[in-house]
Amino acid sequence: MPMHIHTPLIESRPLGALSGAAVWLKLDALQPCGSFKLRGVGHACEVRYAQGARHFVSSSGGNAGLAVAYAGRQLGVPVTVVVPQTTTERAKELLALEGAEVIVHGSAWHEANQLALTLLRDDSAFIHPFDDPLLWEGHATLVDEVAQAGLKPDAVVLAVGGGGLLCGVVQGLQRNGWHDVPVLAVETEGAASLHAASLAGQAVEIERITSVATSLGAKKVCEQAARLLQEHPVHSLVVSDGAALDACERFLLDHRVLVEPACGAALAVAYEGPALAAYENVLMVVCGGATATLEQIRQWRAQQG
Ligand SMILES: *Cc1c(COP(=O)(O)O)cnc(C)c1O
Repeated sequence: MPMHIHTPLIESRPLGALSGAAVWLKLDALQPCGSFKLRGVGHACEVRYAQGARHFVSSSGGNAGLAVAYAGRQLGVPVTVVVPQTTTERAKELLALEGAEVIVHGSAWHEANQLALTLLRDDSAFIHPFDDPLLWEGHATLVDEVAQAGLKPDAVVLAVGGGGLLCGVVQGLQRNGWHDVPVLAVETEGAASLHAASLAGQAVEIERITSVATSLGAKKVCEQAARLLQEHPVHSLVVSDGAALDACERFLLDHRVLVEPACGAALAVAYEGPALAAYENVLMVVCGGATATLEQIRQWRAQQG
């Protein structure tokens, strides 16, 4: 039994009217811990459990850590999440609510990650937030569900952080025989590591993350994501933080679901411009995200000026 749920697939009239295409929302914001991450993380945790793991370790203070905490609780396995001091109180509360042991260490992610790696015992599994074929296999179920629903989109829009969702969705497209369906891969300015890879022809590290879309804040995409730029029609798009934040607010009004700016980035492509007018049926991956409050989103918006 997988841990993730089959999420609703609904047509968005507001986004359709604005973009000129029929826009189908895959509502993964409704997964139990608030994002698509549970698909891949749940699968990875189940496989590692079957292989004997009895302790999960994560260094993500975001939705990946939450999904590991959730999966561990479901399997009755203790979970340790090491997060940097920059992690919000809300994120720490959500992790604690899932029963995870939360250790705060270091001023940035790489320090937290270093400590996390020292906590691994013989029976521990380290669950990576995006760079793991088990994760991609789990994320691919999102596309299987769309196929089962009888919809073949002629484009998919999704957000990219480290590229795990991208790798999973492309795997899902390919295993359903949809090699021709392009993916519009969206990042925010200040977190555009796939865009950097598309310019360089390989995965490269960007200097720093400056975007408010913290869930997209991987300095370098995984090698597989960079490879897919050559092997599948993937178009890299970049939107501003302001556009992503506006999309969050508008989506809350239109569909009564609050998502993180990371997800707002993908939604902004439909809200902001004509990028989708060339398509008939667009699949919008509403990846969700549980760590931003409405208050925080409005504060960030005010700071954009
Ligand atoms: C993790 C995450 C992303 C980015 O996914 P990657 O697999 O890192 O590319 C996008 N949106 C949300 C809400 C996330 O939690």
